[in-house]
Amino acid sequence: MTMTREIQAVAICRSPYKQKFGIPRQPGLVTAARGYVELQAPFNHIDTVRGLEQYSHIWLLFSFHENLAQGWKTTVRPPRLGGNEKLGVFATRSTFRPNGIGQSVVKLHGIHQRKGKVVLEISAMDLLDGTPILDIKPYIPFSDAISDAQGGIAHEAPILAKVKFANDVVAQLAKYEQQQYPNLQAIIEGVLAQDPRPAYKKAKADPKQYQVALYDLDILWRVVDEVIIVEAIRRSTI
Ligand code: SAM
Repeated sequence: MTMTREIQAVAICRSPYKQKFGIPRQPGLVTAARGYVELQAPFNHIDTVRGLEQYSHIWLLFSFHENLAQGWKTTVRPPRLGGNEKLGVFATRSTFRPNGIGQSVVKLHGIHQRKGKVVLEISAMDLLDGTPILDIKPYIPFSDAISDAQGGIAHEAPILAKVKFANDVVAQLAKYEQQQYPNLQAIIEGVLAQDPRPAYKKAKADPKQYQVALYDLDILWRVVDEVIIVEAIRRSTI
């Protein structure tokens, strides 16, 4: 029996992450990053979230909307295995899935009503800016947190790289933080400490300069002797 059902986004996620490259691979890794879940009509009513303020964390079910056009694959090469080994799609958190659905637990900081919109303030998400949210549910520790669970290839949290800032970037950061980007330094550190480069690039010397887009800023960085150096911050041109 084939079951199909049309579903509708209930909200849109706003996050500092403007491109897929550099987004943490799971939630909870970059706690300094704040985001917003903006409810969409006809769900944009304070009653749809009545009681949610009692919870410190929520589940977001969402669409990997930027990858839907590429379809899905039976097996995938998880970055954790250096891209060399294949696992079944249902044994991974790959974004190329039959229904393209992601799930993340994020911290809930508050529920606001702004200019006719109901907005959930969140942090530590791994979602691209503009991601359609398919459902929102409270995180229930007694049953959602399983202390003796086995985490397979992802049992341990990822090892973090050391991140340093060039001298003139430090001065720039202070200015940007005062202007409109609170926690910018901590967000950049958190994002780059995950070393977002593909696994095959990490195996050997890599002189390339990389760029991640946060808010409307391009962060330019390079790896030198296994340390990530932030070389420049520029206003984004896209
Ligand atoms: N925590 C979720 C899960 O397990 O279902 C997502 C894990 S997935 C490995 C996280 C990655 O999804 C991010 O690093 C980012 O590259 C990608 N991503 C986030 N939002 C996306 C979107 N709207 N469309 C496509 N890819 C997205």
